[in-house]
Amino acid sequence: MNILVLNCGSSSLKYQLINMENEEVLAKGLCERIGIDGSRIKHTPNGKETIIIEGDMPDHKNAVQYVIEALSSEEHGVIKTMDEINAVGHRVVHGGEEFACSTIITDEVIEAVVKCTDLAPLHNPANLIGIDACKQIMPNVPMVGVFDTAFHQTMPEKTYLYALPYDYYRKYKLRRYGFHGTSHKYVSHRAAEFLGKDIKDLKIVVCHLGNGASVCAVDGGKSIDTSMGLTPLEGLAMGTRCGDMDPAIIQFLADKEGLSIDEINTILNKKSGVLGISELSSDFRDLEDAIEEGNKKAELTMNVFCYRVAKYVGAYAAAMNGIDAVVFTAGLGENNGDVRSEVCSYLTFLGVDVDEEANKCRGIERDFSKEGARVRSVVIPTDEEMMIARETARLI
Ligand code: ADP
Repeated sequence: MNILVLNCGSSSLKYQLINMENEEVLAKGLCERIGIDGSRIKHTPNGKETIIIEGDMPDHKNAVQYVIEALSSEEHGVIKTMDEINAVGHRVVHGGEEFACSTIITDEVIEAVVKCTDLAPLHNPANLIGIDACKQIMPNVPMVGVFDTAFHQTMPEKTYLYALPYDYYRKYKLRRYGFHGTSHKYVSHRAAEFLGKDIKDLKIVVCHLGNGASVCAVDGGKSIDTSMGLTPLEGLAMGTRCGDMDPAIIQFLADKEGLSIDEINTILNKKSGVLGISELSSDFRDLEDAIEEGNKKAELTMNVFCYRVAKYVGAYAAAMNGIDAVVFTAGLGENNGDVRSEVCSYLTFLGVDVDEEANKCRGIERDFSKEGARVRSVVIPTDEEMMIARETARLI
């Protein structure tokens, strides 16, 4: 069974075609600049060079058509015809309170996702466009929606309620939802397997540290708290997002700088975090270079970032009354040993004890704790696409 996994952004579309018999990724790629001049598709068949196909993609329907052509082309295709795609798994960012698990996409489901658009105005519309495009092009192929928020629907009320007038929750479902759920679920389950333990017996904190970053407390396989909230702005300092801050700052900035709410929102989402403090870049690779050249501001930015991660791990150790493992994933978590090491340096009181030699690894599964450490420190590369494919296969 071949499953096409799609992740639609407003002007991009990421895809993978996975053979579920052996979980082999047959091909993957990215359509860029959809609806903008210069659209193109970067297509990588398994084990071969990436090719770039320039194409006219005024909308996502055209992009899906290009993807299918690339996948089934004689030159660089991996299937003969579209009929070899047995199902499509869609990443959907916000499932609100409606979706506590993945679901087969029906007209009713689409309606319910439309209703969640208020909660994710930047993401859900693009996901819906992708669903609609597939519905038109492959009307008989079953589709499954896998929600970023679903894994966190096990959070108890005391975790997800904001201390705001309850009526806003009643009226608008204004509450904490959390994101990166597909990644947190995959990584926590894989970590348990890797450690040779039953996930039901484990208290795990997963640190998903990418451009967007969040921490999740997973108790017995269930998310009981996570650092992102109603939107992905809450929590850690991220590439360009501010994370937690005093809400009074909004009024302060409006008064001092004469900014509108929209303008402040843009600053908090796009100009803050690592980029905001470092005044250099949102990308940690640039920061690493700058730190090596003695840039103190870059070092400070890294200190702020790591301190916040550690604070959340500490908080979640309290939330679960202890932890068995702290797990690192995503771009930074998988590749930046300095970040891992600095975060862990705050956690020795919990029983974290890092083997610095073992921590010199990138993009591989590894337990980098010293022998006998009470809490295991582990790297598990995330694989959201595989998780979406597995969920899709399970449901169809
Ligand atoms: P996104 O949230 O956009 O998916 P990623 O998970 O790709 O983000 O993470 C992006 C961050 O991870 C950047 O700060 C980048 O510097 C870092 N990163 C990604 N890949 C590497 C790598 N191979 N080596 C070092 N840092 C990396």
